[in-house]
Amino acid sequence: TMACLTAIDAGDALGAFVHKTPEIALDQARAAEARIKAGDAPSMCGIPLGIKDLFATRGVPSQAASNILRGFRPEYESTVTTKLFEAGAVMLGKLNMDEFAMGSSNETSCYGHAVNPWKVDGRKLTPGGSSGGSAAAVAGDLCLAATGTDTGGSIRQPAAFTGIVGIKPTYGRVSRWGIVAFASSLDQAGPMTKTVRDAAIFLQAMAGHDPKDSTSADLAVPDFEAALTGDIRGKKIGLPREYRMEGMPAEIEKLWADGAAMLRDAGAEIVDISLPHTKYALPAYYVIAPGEASSNLARYDGVRYGHRAKLAAGDGITEMYEKTRAEGFGKEVQRRVMIGTYVLSAGFYDAYYNRARKVRALIKRDFEQAFAAGVDAILTPATPSAAFGLGEMSSADPIEMYLNDVFTVTVNLAGLPGVAVPVGLDKQGLPLGLQLIGRPWEEGDLLNHAYVLE
Ligand code: GLN
Repeated sequence: TMACLTAIDAGDALGAFVHKTPEIALDQARAAEARIKAGDAPSMCGIPLGIKDLFATRGVPSQAASNILRGFRPEYESTVTTKLFEAGAVMLGKLNMDEFAMGSSNETSCYGHAVNPWKVDGRKLTPGGSSGGSAAAVAGDLCLAATGTDTGGSIRQPAAFTGIVGIKPTYGRVSRWGIVAFASSLDQAGPMTKTVRDAAIFLQAMAGHDPKDSTSADLAVPDFEAALTGDIRGKKIGLPREYRMEGMPAEIEKLWADGAAMLRDAGAEIVDISLPHTKYALPAYYVIAPGEASSNLARYDGVRYGHRAKLAAGDGITEMYEKTRAEGFGKEVQRRVMIGTYVLSAGFYDAYYNRARKVRALIKRDFEQAFAAGVDAILTPATPSAAFGLGEMSSADPIEMYLNDVFTVTVNLAGLPGVAVPVGLDKQGLPLGLQLIGRPWEEGDLLNHAYVLE
């Protein structure tokens, strides 16, 4: 913990930590030390973590990197952080992210962007997003691991961009209680770690049924670490042909083939599969996610939490809402609220939202059919490229940024577990990751496949 606190102070240039909690960290570390001495050390005892700013942490600023939550210090602790603390973990502070987890580069944060510790020619690169601070902090050795959340790829894409491991569990595996909601039917929290083994131990500690989240599954949490045998003989790995996108860079193709070869060498059978509705995943996601977001973000009204705009004489409650939300929400969040309100509005609900829900069901069925045909895991690229430069994806065309999520959103729409593992480097020496997608509730088996790739 001391070493991490020192590294964090020296590492401000990464923009990873937006709020440091050294007093809490030292208290928790001392308590952990006492437990270790007493021979009663739980799985995360004394492990110094960073916590994404999306998690409510009692008495500690929890702003979802938004100006609208400025000054908000929750009086409660999220279920995930509660479980981690019970397992002995130490909180070093809160981590940067895209505002309300909307973005793929950490550039929509009210705190300014985080920076990828990997550099080429002095170019500053994005650590990815939305869990960009988490990825930068783990890859930059400011903490041993960090929490992330993933609605459409926000754990897996930043993990791939920074050469670390990130798993989005099955929807319902981890409680969403006390995590600021973005798109409730897609959001899941998960670990971002340096190794697959760390991910297994961390996921074990944060998972489990929670009566406070009605969508959390009442299932036992298996021993994920015990599943890491490295034995994948006889397993069937599917390579979905629809993920072979037009214009895919040759080095991503090669990475994908290399990954498949590693799994084959370990005794798995590689098969071509089809997930025919893949091409509709991004459009469906960018209807459903903003729809749910516009509804979830209605609560930021200047009354209940955080920021309230200064009002002019004669302003009524409508002006108060308008001014507060115009000042408090950044551009990307406003765009999502507008798209979401539009697709949910009476005249367009059937044309957009309902249609997107039907497409979602078809995407889910594609995966079910692949698994029913005996596929154990699906291997795909994690991202269409290595980390891009900060400021290089023009904000003039938000779609360019949305295209980054092409390989990751299907997993959220289908509620499946997906893990990003670092597998190689591009020609500039930047990390590249592959994604493995598994059967629902089989994160242990999924991590075992990732274990072979790492
Ligand atoms: N980049 C995606 C978005 O902007 C995913 C974000 C996430 O997973 N939180 O919506």
